[in-house]
Amino acid sequence: MGLNLDGRWYTAEFETRAIHAGQEADPVTGAVIPPIYQTSTYVQEAVGVHKGFEYSRTDNPTRSALHQVMAALEGGRWGLAYASGLAATQNLTYLLAPGEHVLLSDDAYGGTYRLIAQVVSRYGIEFSLVDMSDLAAVQAAIRPETRLVWVETPTNPYLKIVDIQGVADLVRDHPARLVVDNTFASPYLQQPLALGADLVLHSTTKYLGGHSDVVGGVVVGNDPEVYETLKFHQNAAGAVPGPFDCWLTLRGIKTLAVRMDRHSANARTVAAFLSEQDAVDRVFYPGLPGHPGHEIAARQMRDFSGMVSFTVRGGYEAAAAVVGQTKVFQLAESLGGVESLVEHPGQMTHASVAGTGAEVEETLIRLSVGIEHEADLIADLRQALNAVVPAGVVR
Ligand code: PLP
Repeated sequence: MGLNLDGRWYTAEFETRAIHAGQEADPVTGAVIPPIYQTSTYVQEAVGVHKGFEYSRTDNPTRSALHQVMAALEGGRWGLAYASGLAATQNLTYLLAPGEHVLLSDDAYGGTYRLIAQVVSRYGIEFSLVDMSDLAAVQAAIRPETRLVWVETPTNPYLKIVDIQGVADLVRDHPARLVVDNTFASPYLQQPLALGADLVLHSTTKYLGGHSDVVGGVVVGNDPEVYETLKFHQNAAGAVPGPFDCWLTLRGIKTLAVRMDRHSANARTVAAFLSEQDAVDRVFYPGLPGHPGHEIAARQMRDFSGMVSFTVRGGYEAAAAVVGQTKVFQLAESLGGVESLVEHPGQMTHASVAGTGAEVEETLIRLSVGIEHEADLIADLRQALNAVVPAGVVR
């Protein structure tokens, strides 16, 4: 199908693009919503004469709609969808050759770290970790053989902020590409390509899907040669999403803007509440004025998103008790759905980094703040904290 740019909606506002780009009414039936093309193959009029679709590992119309809306939302020339965020990450590593080097954020998602450190490194690709919020450290860590610089911002789980434009300025002097994992912000809150990134990646499992009912990933970029390389390897290796998964993601994307506004508002309230609790040691939320990355976040993000992390006093037992006590915040991995989730990164999402030097504290708790009423969220956190610290300590 080549590059899948649908230019018609590029001048519309974000909310309008999210609903319409790549999602014209079906020309055959008039259906307002793009159908789920649940087909593996397509009839050809003659050998090689077809309507642009031959086999659904290569292309599928429901998937093409997702490609187009994602390109439109991130301001790129093309998008590609994958079976998961990690399948998208793996596809990007096919841009690398043995002897080349990946510079990875020291606070990246544990699965990204595991893929690079335990799988990709077996094929002669080197990697090193750096605190990407320290631009001098990034500059010092870029090697002549660095080809990918991998930024996540806000990071997971400490919600550190990386200056995307600052890193892009450094990478520009090298033969490396800057990839930004934009999962925690979503394209509504942050536009990495406009800030100088070469490629944007999402786990669409999170805010883009938005309802905790589908696993997927996307990459968006501008360079046609990169598109051809990724597309070739995606087709050759096969980690594509099914049409129903693409359809669920398209459906989620339509409400992204209103959800992100509410996630951000609720998270701001939760972070302010936690900051006042004696049982809480430190709160990590880029929307708090005291957060070290607050000013950069305010510059490069529309709002601060729905993720809040905090440490509790009282060691691992206290943290485990809090995550076991919440009722509205359900104990589960993942994030970005309409429902609030709580988790213990050290034992759950980040268990794969144990022993690597990239471990997280055992008192750390991560919240994915949903779009329920904020009063219920605060009441739930209050009762959970009250249950594990002596009465009267929690205000
Ligand atoms: N990037 C980030 C920031 C994530 O949080 C995750 C998953 O939690 C991924 C990538 C991987 O995505 P997936 O689980 O869809 O493979």
